[in-house]
Formats: sequence, structure tokens, C-alpha cells
Amino acid sequence: MVSLIEQIDKMTSQNVLVSDATKSEINMAIAVAVSNSALFTTAAQKPPVGPGGFITISRKKLLQNLEISGAARLNTWVDSMKASSPTHIKSTPSLCQDQSSWILHHPSALEMFEQITKASKGKQIVMFLDYDGTLSPIVEDPDRAFMSDAMRATVRKLARYFPTAIVSGRCRDKVYSFVRLAELYYAGSHGMDIKGPSKGSKYKNGAHQAVLFQPASEFVPMIDEVYKALLEKTKSTPGAKVEHNKFCVSVHFRCVDEKRWSELALQVRSVLKDYPKLRLTQGRKVLEIRPTIKWDKGKALEFLLESLGFANCTDVFPVYIGDDRTDEDAFKVLRERGQGFGILVSKIPKDTNASYSLQEPSEVMDFLQRLVRWKRLSLRRQFRVRRRFEEMATSLAN
Ligand SMILES: [Mg+2]
Repeated sequence: MVSLIEQIDKMTSQNVLVSDATKSEINMAIAVAVSNSALFTTAAQKPPVGPGGFITISRKKLLQNLEISGAARLNTWVDSMKASSPTHIKSTPSLCQDQSSWILHHPSALEMFEQITKASKGKQIVMFLDYDGTLSPIVEDPDRAFMSDAMRATVRKLARYFPTAIVSGRCRDKVYSFVRLAELYYAGSHGMDIKGPSKGSKYKNGAHQAVLFQPASEFVPMIDEVYKALLEKTKSTPGAKVEHNKFCVSVHFRCVDEKRWSELALQVRSVLKDYPKLRLTQGRKVLEIRPTIKWDKGKALEFLLESLGFANCTDVFPVYIGDDRTDEDAFKVLRERGQGFGILVSKIPKDTNASYSLQEPSEVMDFLQRLVRWKRLSLRRQFRVRRRFEEMATSLAN
């Protein structure tokens, strides 16, 4: 079986980054992008308005709308921006019904804690954590998305018991500057920039001790160029914030008036049309521009498992916690592998491949703390049992 790392070596050495099929899709998208006839919403194109007054579009549809495709239209961009970034959620009876049926399918990881630890019995748990909205609250200024000291202490303890990786859309250096724990693995830029622990981790494996993997390094000059173009283009939209994530660029619209979202989408699209090797995806109040290589948080998860020596292992139990659509790639990988599970951080029902849910970062912290306590207790128990056996063996020998 060809390992993922071998596949990657092949992919990067051949520089085969964009398939012909993808190229033709991109060309179609550019053709549509330059056509002004696609700028106006018709009733038929409007997505359904969901309970609570915000728009719901299935994840698949969002993907169809946002990934570069022949059907890409400005109005669907804006609708999708609204769908993944609801600005008003009202409490209505139907929303409550939706919520309770969703919770049945994606129960709270806190309530299911015992079942979860039972399922992990005899297996090595490996933790994957998204950053924004998972370890830190979503805040107006993305530069100030700090995690609390209590959360940092929790993650530090977690990494003592389980190999732990932070997987984020942000630039790796940026996410490290927030987390500041050298004993973790970091996968920045949606997994396109991976580095192993610089110190203090017992979970390092052979040749990949200083894992450093950057499958999109040849895109750096293009990303620099697009960053500058977006900065210039969006400066007339108050509140828009362009963030350089080394291998990708984020355009945050958390502080942009909803009335100006279409203007911003138009600006971003006008820059992107010159870069067919880049694609656009979307997170919570953020547009993400990244290379069209087939690499995402799911691939990063597989790469890290392989680097840790769990490539073809059946006794590994990966747990991925994230709040974003980009985390779905990782949830999907876990479902397909039939190993471990994903936990979606969300207060509202969402179409997801995660098995469980947590409402917000404070619940994530509770879950991680319980995991640490459980592991500590089970290690103590094992230690006591071993000591008892040793004592018995000594007394029998005498
Ligand atoms: Mg997130």
C-alpha cells in the first residue's frame, strides 16, 4: 500500500497541482466571474430561509457555490456568506425542534463522555484541535483572538497524556503566538504548513521528529501578490481585514456591515479572476483564498497520524474538535477510516460529519479537562494493579 507520505513525495516532486478537470472548472468560473449578468438575485436562486430567520444551505450546496465552479455567482457568494455567518438567530419553536433532533444525532461529547472513553479502550488517543472558535472565542478583531490562560493550561496537560496537534487556517507562526506551547504539533494554513514539537514532547517518531511539511511552498510568491492586491482592493470597504497566512489569505468580514458584503465579495472576486490556481472557500465570517492543491485539514490529519507512526494501526483513536466548515474535511476522514470521531463546536444545528457536539470553547475546555482526569486516574489504577502483582510475585517467591 502506498503511504500518504509517499503519495505526497510524488505529488510535490511532480508539481502536479491542478488537474485538467479543475482547470476547466476554473476557466468556467472566470468566464462567469467576468459576466455582470450574474450579479442580481432572482427569487429562484434564493436559498431557503431557515428557522430563526437565518438562511440555511446544505454544506454540499455551500461547497458547490463557493468552490470555483461554473455556477459561481456573486449573489450565491453573498447568500453563502450569510448562511455560514448568521447575524441574527431568533428563538422559535421550530428552531427548538430542529435543535433537539440535531442533538439526538450529534449528542454532547460531555454527556457521552463515558461511551467515548469506553470506545477508546486499549487505543492511543491522538488529539487534533482547531483554534478559532474552538480554543478561543470568535472575536471582532482576529488579531485579538486570544485563548485564556486556563485553556492554555488545559491543553498543556492534555499534551502530557496524548499527542496533540493544533490545526488551523491561520499562519502557523500566528497560531503559535496565540497558543505558545512548544510541545504540540502545529498545522497552519489549513494544514499546508506542518511542524512537529520543538521540545518537551514524548510523542515524536523516528525520522519525522522535526516534521516540517509544506506542500504548497511554490505558491508563496503568488499568495504574497494576492495579499497585496486584496489589501488594496478592499481598503474602501470599512471593517474588511485581509490576513496573510503564508500559504493562503483570509478576508475577514466580521466587522463589515452586512449591507456591504456584496461589495466585498465583488472586490475579492475581481482579484481572484486573475489567479486560476487559487480557490475560494468560506469559514465563519471569513473568505479563504488558497491554492487548488488537494490538501486540507483532513489530509493534514492523515499526514500527522502517519508521522506519529499510526499509518496502518488499528489501535489509534483520533479525536478532532473544530467549529468550522474547513474542519469537515477532517471529520470526514475520521468517518471514512472508522477510527475515533469528530466533535463539532456549534450552538446551532449544522450539516456535519462530526459524531458529537460541544456548544462553545468553555465546553471544549471541560471536555479536555475530563479527558485529562480520566487518563490520569486510569494510569494510577494501572500502576496500582501492577504494584499489587509485583508484591504478590515477591511474596510467592519468598
Ligand atoms: Mg475555527
